[in-house]
Formats: sequence, structure tokens, C-alpha cells
Amino acid sequence: MRLDLALQLLQQAGAMLPDAEPYSEAWLQGILDALCDLSSKDALTGLVNRRSFEMALGREVDRVARSGEPALLLVLDIDHFKAVNDTHGHAAGDQVIRAVAGAISQTVRPMDTVARVGGEEFAIILPNCPTSVGVVVAERIRQRVEAMAISVATGVDALRCTISIGGAFAPQWVRSSTLIWTERADRQLYRAKAEGRNRACLESHVDSLVSAEEKGMLFAVTQQDSE
Ligand code: GH3
Ligand code: MG
Ligand code: MG
Repeated sequence: MRLDLALQLLQQAGAMLPDAEPYSEAWLQGILDALCDLSSKDALTGLVNRRSFEMALGREVDRVARSGEPALLLVLDIDHFKAVNDTHGHAAGDQVIRAVAGAISQTVRPMDTVARVGGEEFAIILPNCPTSVGVVVAERIRQRVEAMAISVATGVDALRCTISIGGAFAPQWVRSSTLIWTERADRQLYRAKAEGRNRACLESHVDSLVSAEEKGMLFAVTQQDSE
């Protein structure tokens, strides 16, 4: 039976199986939820995985083009992470990744999407985020990670690490692509690394000064054009 394969998969992944009566509606729902988690979340950190992040970014691009709300994409990378692995081992490296993931999650709003997009790389989508707020959030995350003492094993001194952050705002009222948006944020991350790491670099951006009425007109024109 196919369901057995799903169960096997969940068990191998160490997922919690539902307590409900096997094959009851509640139990099946629990299995479906667990499968959804398995396909959308990163196993090490529990954050959204890369695939799910890309879908969320696509949805955000559509939303910005429709509503004109400012949205920020942050990309984050742990500084000199290879040295952590080399000095303390891969398991300690994993602990550091998990601690950074926790620090990021605790610093952003519930509406923000925090993803692990690579080994020691993270990305955050912040919908409805004005420029001034974006700068403050990025800096708050950077400071929180810097202040963290990460205990990786008993008898071993707690580890410390820093991150570099790059950020770019979605262009408002223009339909952008997820790829271009990501590249712009990545460019800022490279800049943060090049300028010495442990810093946040955001692409300069001026909040739209268009009034609500003008926004309505702009949107109407865009709709007519696309008909
Ligand atoms: P930089 O400041 O330029 O970012 O330097 P870095 O050393 O962090 O950069 P680099 O990309 O060279 O190193 C990333 C390392 O992350 C290399 C790889 O071994 C390690 N890594 C990738 N995925 C994982 C993982 O899941 N767990 C652990 N422990 N290490 C990982
Ligand atoms: Mg990296
Ligand atoms: Mg790195």
C-alpha cells in the first residue's frame, strides 16, 4: 500500500507520527501535515527550505506588483564558517547553523518568511517593510547573532560567530523577477563581505511618494494595459 511508503519516509526522516487512531480522518490529516512539513522545511533548522522559499518569493513579487507595498529581501551568510567546521568539527558547525537560524527567527515578525537556502546561508522575505524598518531589522539580526554564545559541547567554550547581510527592496508597481531580486540582494551581500563582514548592506532605496489615489490610477492603467 502506498501509504506505507509515506509512513516509512516519515519514520526515516524522524518525523513525529500522529497519535490519532490509525487510518482515521485525523490520523490521515496528521500524515498529510507531516509530509507537507517534510517537503517544505529544512531538516536541520526547521526553517523553510529553498524550494518553498522560491515559491514564497514568487508570491511576494506578485503581491508587490499588485499592492505596491514595499517588500525587502535579506540574504545572510555566516562569516568564516569553514573555520568553525575545521576547528570544532561538522557537528559543532551544525549547532552554529541551528543557533543562527533560531536567532533570526526570534528577531523577525511572524509574517516574515525565514529560509535556509544553502549550507550556512539564509534568506528572509519581509513583506510590507518600509526602508527605515528594513535597515533596523537587518542591524538587529546582525547584533543578535554577534551577541550569541553558542554552546556546542560540555566542557568546550561557547562559540561565537558573525554574519554578513545583503538586502534589496522589490521594485514597487513594476513586475520584477525573483531572479533579479535575488541577484540584487546577493550583490549587497558580496559588498558586506568585501567591506569586512559582520555588517548589513542594503541597496539604497527611496520609499514611494506616490499617493493612494495615484496608486489606484497606476494600478488601473496597468490593468487596462494587460487586457
Ligand atoms: P565567508 O565569510 O566568505 O562566507 O567564508 P566561509 O568560510 O563562511 O565560506 P565558505 O562558503 O567557503 O564556507 C562554507 C562552509 O560551510 C563550507 C562547507 O563545508 C560548510 N557547510 C555547508 N553546509 C553545511 C552543513 O550543513 N553543516 C556544516 N557543519 N557545514 C556546512
Ligand atoms: Mg556561504
Ligand atoms: Mg560563509
